[in-house]
Amino acid sequence: MRRLQKIDWRAPSVQRWVLVVVLVVLVVTLLGTLIYLAGRLESDQMQRRVDAQIEAADQDLRKHLTGDLRSLQALMARHPSVAQWQHEADVLLAQQREILRLEWRDETLRRKAQMDTPFRRSLGDDEDQIEALKDMTQACALARQSGGAAYSASYFVPQEDGLGTEMMAMCWPLKEHGHVSGYLVARYGLADILSDLAARQLARSEELTLTELDGTRLAASSAAHRGVRLFSAQKRLDLPGNPMVLRLNSWQGTPDLVPNFLTALVTVLALALVVVLVMLVRDTRRRLSAELELAEALAFRKAMEDSLVTGLRARSLQGHITYVNPAFCEMVGFSAEELRTQLDPPPYWPDEWVAEYRQVQQQRVATQGSAREGFEALFKRKSGEVFPVLVVEAPLINAAGVQTGWMSAVLDLSEKRRIEELSRATQERLQATARLATVGEMASLLSHELNQPLAAISSYANGSLNLLENGLTVDAAGVVSDLQMALGRIAEQSERAGRVIKSVNDFVRRRKQLRESVSPVELLSAILPLVNLQARKSSVRVVTEVSPQLPQVQCDRTMVEQVLLNLTRNAMQAMEDMPAADRILEIRARLVLDSDHGPQRTAQLEWRILDRGLGIPPEVAEHLFTPFFTTKNEGMGLGLSLCRTVAEQHGGALEFEPNRPQGAVFVFTLPLGPN
Ligand code: ADP
Repeated sequence: MRRLQKIDWRAPSVQRWVLVVVLVVLVVTLLGTLIYLAGRLESDQMQRRVDAQIEAADQDLRKHLTGDLRSLQALMARHPSVAQWQHEADVLLAQQREILRLEWRDETLRRKAQMDTPFRRSLGDDEDQIEALKDMTQACALARQSGGAAYSASYFVPQEDGLGTEMMAMCWPLKEHGHVSGYLVARYGLADILSDLAARQLARSEELTLTELDGTRLAASSAAHRGVRLFSAQKRLDLPGNPMVLRLNSWQGTPDLVPNFLTALVTVLALALVVVLVMLVRDTRRRLSAELELAEALAFRKAMEDSLVTGLRARSLQGHITYVNPAFCEMVGFSAEELRTQLDPPPYWPDEWVAEYRQVQQQRVATQGSAREGFEALFKRKSGEVFPVLVVEAPLINAAGVQTGWMSAVLDLSEKRRIEELSRATQERLQATARLATVGEMASLLSHELNQPLAAISSYANGSLNLLENGLTVDAAGVVSDLQMALGRIAEQSERAGRVIKSVNDFVRRRKQLRESVSPVELLSAILPLVNLQARKSSVRVVTEVSPQLPQVQCDRTMVEQVLLNLTRNAMQAMEDMPAADRILEIRARLVLDSDHGPQRTAQLEWRILDRGLGIPPEVAEHLFTPFFTTKNEGMGLGLSLCRTVAEQHGGALEFEPNRPQGAVFVFTLPLGPN
């Protein structure tokens, strides 16, 4: 049998919630860490890219400046005339856009020739710009000293358009026979250097700047798109005479939260995980409540099954017990385990019934009976006591609608039977009492009735004695015949007295409960002497109308006789106060068709006892069949209630109706039975 464990659902649910909260915290932490790491990885990647870019930009810039220097050396290598120089310088300036001006100066730094870039309108005159001149002079001094190119500090040159440009001069000493014969000065626009570099290397969201060592910004290539997040790297640019810092700023245009695909993927996965988690929590909650409901339903069902007084038994299609409730175990005295393991025959089948029960069971299995059936059977307790049960069996249908066995409700009938037996015994005792009461009543009638034959006997006996004493001497022959006649009367009268006593004796003694076939005439003739006894005393005329052709009825003869006797006695008592002419008791019997049983009408024998008494007033009619209800001083009030019980026990009925023009009619019906 299935056992339901007692579960306290509340404590584990708290634990479950703690677990869920811990799980949520862990998942959120994990996802946060993942997003953070993905972001950092992406930042590191960006930073490395920017570092590599600044490195490349630095090399590029240096290569560029070195390339410029080579071009300038080539320009001077052929010792050009001023005009030639100007021509070639013009060509060079058209190619090298970052060089804004080329100057050829003699050894005292006086200007021999000068060419400006064709891309700028006016750069002004260096000679006017003291700062520029000073820086150039310093650079050239350094160049002379080092024997190679030297750069000046940057200086600002205002432009005509109101803006200005940050410039830097490069001075290269021209040597002739080991002596410095002049200088070639190239003036660079710092912004032009950067924009040239940026055009070749940088993306639109990147910017190159040149700053002084102290961070003062000198020039920048402008970035078209600026983003939210800035990555930057810098590199010290050690040009001889002018140390500067080259810096690369790179903006990330995408929002910070989803900086790249990896982070986006992790974020999406994290969100999906959170959604799944929420769904899981919801599902768990639903499951929990469903579990709780189920457990409550199970506990309720279990409590119900346990508190039932009806035994419940489930059997498989093969007839093996699969479930019994405690009431069934208690009824038969076997444990659930014993009932489940002792299969054939079950331990509660009485030995003498095993064969028949087995046959019935085989029949049921074979026919797969599906109707609900109730039948009485005998079961055996563990103690060996055999007791009656009522078994109501119905097919056990599972959720899929398939029959999996039978479910039976078993009722122990032993107590009911005991009570029935008790009530039957009580009834019997009551009837015996009522009969004795009738007999008691009759005793007076009997004495009255016996008086006549006894008086007759006595007078015949006295007459006979007188004859014997006096008459023998006179006329012996006449005396003998008189004596014969007197003795004959005595015998007759004593026989009559004997019959009277016998009729009472028969009535009191007959105790057999058995049903027998009796004809209505027989019943009538059995009670008639007793009825007549009372009728004579009460001056009642008895009219009977019972045809000898009427069929026999199956009945408990003694009981039915008593019913008729009771009814006739009541009728006669009801007429006691009536004028003698009206005291007529009618006893009739006839066949009727019972209309209560629908189309299958059955024949019944109907006894009608009619009187012409005062009839039954409504207040009496209400309690007529209530035991111990009587309106008579010496009455017991048991007669009619017992009569109705007898009628119902026979499947018949006892009713009453008013008689016309006066009195009452008691109608007592008996079913004809199988014959
Ligand atoms: P009892 O005769 O001892 O009083 P019964 O049960 O036979 O008990 O009758 C109950 C009551 O029914 C009687 O006291 C009487 O009042 C009433 N009763 C019975 N039969 C008749 C009848 N034929 N006519 C009028 N009253 C009747």
